Amino acid sequence: MTPVILIVEDEADLVELLRYNLEREGYEILATPSGEEALLIVEERHVDLMLLDWMLPHMSGIEVCRQLRRKPGSRALPVIMLTARGEQADRVRGLDTGADDYVTKPFAPEELIARIHAVMRRARPALSEERLTYSDIEMNLTEHKVARNNRPVVLGPTEFRLLRHFMEHPGRVFSRDQLIDSVWGHGIFIDSRTVDVHIRRLRKALNGKDEQDVIRTVRSAGYALDAEAAIA
Ligand code: CA
Repeated sequence: MTPVILIVEDEADLVELLRYNLEREGYEILATPSGEEALLIVEERHVDLMLLDWMLPHMSGIEVCRQLRRKPGSRALPVIMLTARGEQADRVRGLDTGADDYVTKPFAPEELIARIHAVMRRARPALSEERLTYSDIEMNLTEHKVARNNRPVVLGPTEFRLLRHFMEHPGRVFSRDQLIDSVWGHGIFIDSRTVDVHIRRLRKALNGKDEQDVIRTVRSAGYALDAEAAIA
């Protein structure tokens, strides 16, 4: 699975430079200029690492980092803080921000990429344990494998991301637009009927003979992963 990096930076030119270089390294890039939005993205999407500018317009990078560390879902998210040169960099290092590493601006993209690789490597032992379970469904995110009742389930990449999103928020109803944002990406144009097609494929792969349908269709609202309601 492509690792996802969230860039939180209000300098648009720097974001584009980073996006270009990191996409070439094989990362998927999400970006926002706002600390508040970054916290929302981390709740909605899977993110493997955050590049966080210290000087952001409203909420500072330090505050974003503190809030991430307070929430169980993002406590372990690797964060590299981008700081300005000199005094500011020394000061930010002296603060207990919870960042995993710091890079001082201006920096060469290669330097940042080396730091990203290093932080990702350190984070990996935790990732290797990454499993999601719900009812009789198990997802091994590291090996990209899914099983139901210990029976292997083969999913296409989109169905895998869909199921992962549901498994991360069991019981919650998502509209087709929300699923497009979370599974395909913000600002990507997908016909909402495409969502139905992938849900159908996911159901077909997931629901074996005599197994209950764990995906609930909520009329005019969307879909949810919900084993309880599906029985009724
Ligand atoms: Ca800035």
